[in-house]
Parts: sequence; C-alpha cells; structure tokens
Amino acid sequence: MLALRAPAARFARAPPAARRRCLLSARAASTSASVDVGTPPHVALVTFERSPGQKPELGLVENGHWLWTLDVDGTRYPRGMLDVIERWHDAASGGRTSDEMLETERKGDPVPVASVTLLAPIPDPPSIVCVGKNYLEHIGEVDSSLPGISAAGAAPPEYPIIFTKAPTSVVGPGASITIPPGVSDAIDYEGELGVIVGRRTPPGVIVDETSAWDAVFGFTIINDVTARDVQKQHQQWYLGKSFDTFCPMGPWIVPKNALRSDADASPNADASPAAIVKRGVALGTVVNGERRQASDTSAMLFDVPALLQVVNRAMTLRAGDVIATGTPAGVGAGMDPRGFLRSGDACEVTVQGVGVLRNPVE
Ligand code: MG
Repeated sequence: MLALRAPAARFARAPPAARRRCLLSARAASTSASVDVGTPPHVALVTFERSPGQKPELGLVENGHWLWTLDVDGTRYPRGMLDVIERWHDAASGGRTSDEMLETERKGDPVPVASVTLLAPIPDPPSIVCVGKNYLEHIGEVDSSLPGISAAGAAPPEYPIIFTKAPTSVVGPGASITIPPGVSDAIDYEGELGVIVGRRTPPGVIVDETSAWDAVFGFTIINDVTARDVQKQHQQWYLGKSFDTFCPMGPWIVPKNALRSDADASPNADASPAAIVKRGVALGTVVNGERRQASDTSAMLFDVPALLQVVNRAMTLRAGDVIATGTPAGVGAGMDPRGFLRSGDACEVTVQGVGVLRNPVE
C-alpha cells in the first residue's frame, strides 16, 4: 500500500525547475476548470430539524429532493446517525444494496428536503482525522505563503501528514462559520471530500484496497476551516483547525455504493466507489460566487485506501469517524492579495455526486 508514495517520491527527485513547472501547470489547471455538482445522489442520509430547536431527526433523501423520516418513533437508533451507519453498513456487507435499504426504510409520506433545516449528518463524530498537503499543487502554495508550516517544506511528505479537528468544531450546512473576535484575521477555507467509516475496525485490519473500502460507509463534504495565524503560532495545527464552527459538514452522507459520477458516462465503466474515486471525483470551492478551488480526487498524493491503512496502523476506527482527505490548491492563503474569509462572505464547497455544502461567514 505504501507504494502509493511513488508519485510523491518521483516529485521529490525531480529537479527544482521541473517541480516549479509541475506546480504552475497544476495551479493553472485548477483555475480553468469548473466544478459541476452532477446528478443528485439517489440515496442520502441526513440529520435534520423540522423547525429550529426541535429534537433532531434522521432521514433519507431520495434524488436530492424527497425526505423520508427514518425513525418515526425515535427509538430505533438511540445513538442517531452512528447507529444508522452501523446498521446500513452491516446490511451492505450482507449484500443488500442502498436501493433495497431505501425500500425497507421508506415509511409514511415524504416532505421536500428544502422544508426542513439540515444539521451536520454526524453532529458529534467520534473522531475527525485530517490529512495535510495531499494535493501536489496545494503543497507549493502552502510552502510559499506559509513557510515553515511543516517540516517537509515544498517537498511532498514521505508519509501523510495526519492531524485532527475537535468534534466540537462541527456545524451543519447553512450554519455560520464564526470568525473568533480578536483572535484571528486569517480565516481560510479548505474544501475536501469526507470519508465516513462504517464499522469498528481494530488496528491492522486494513491492509489493502479491498479491506480499506470494506471499512468505508460513504462520503460527505468537509470544509476544513483554518485560522492560518493560529495554525502557525502553535507547533501543532489542532487549535488553528478546531475553533467552534470550523468544521462545516454535509449536506448529507452518500452511502459508498450510491456514489455516481457524471464523468463516467460509459456503461462499461467500473461503477465501484473505489474505481470512481480513483478516476477522479471533482471537487471545488466558491467564495462569493468566485471559484477558488477546482480539482479532483485522482490528484491525491495518498489515496483513500492508503490514508485508511496508515491511520489504522495505529488506531481502532469507529463507525462515524470522519476522514477529511485533504484540500487542493486555491486556498485564501495562496492568493495575492490573500483571500481570507470575511464577515458577510458565502462559502460553498462542491463534491460531484455528493452535493454542495454552503455556509455563510459571520
Ligand atoms: Mg485540510
């Protein structure tokens, strides 16, 4: 699995001029592509409020529109989405498809999803494991704009940079990203694909691509909001990444087998989540209508199975753990002048086949 370091190693051995060309061409590509949200997922899982302050409920969203209450009497899933994930994951492992689960779980009459308030699909995840410098073009902008932010400098890291965000930083779609007054004036966005773990996985169980994808439940969108100045003040990135509201998540979870990519029009294309993510799921970020980030998951230096294996070498993964897989180029810190978030801004992160995560800034 760690042979997946090969692209990074090749880059590190390249002469400096070639490295710069690589970074520049990657950045040029990132500013010319657009990110299309694609077709709404056939099945998605949400945590929602019917009206502000009411008890959170669980739901299924069909084709991005109709919302079915998942647990009408509120007793089937006492731990909320964590129980839903475990149960659906077990069903999928037993050969049941998302469509079959949809048929089983749909009860009563649906309402339009726009009529409720979506919360983060996992409001209090057990753990949020994040990856730094996982897109080549992002490494260049980070090193030039934030020198010293990691020991690897401009070179791709030999092993993935792993850090965490506090679960208390999670907010849902539509919730405000709050700029902490008097603490930071360098608040940045990082649009990322979020991978959701489906079951308890003791250390060392993930040894290859098959066992890695077996442990994955599905996907969501993460905005790894960061106070760049606080990130630099401390040797660890934890505080700069963990202010309350600094982990927008949502709008929902797409079970892995429900992921579709519009880019794969060929009926013969491998439709497994492993193949789709490897071919490249588009992702990007728009601030106030201006596209800032655009790339796809094929550009990851360490792919999803490699990340899971590395983390699982050390620790038990639990259902509902979130892996934020890194951000591509185009963060505010890399712009001239810098494009940090300000009060009144609107930040949107798109992952094709998953959806759009919109959050205002206050
Ligand atoms: Mg990040």
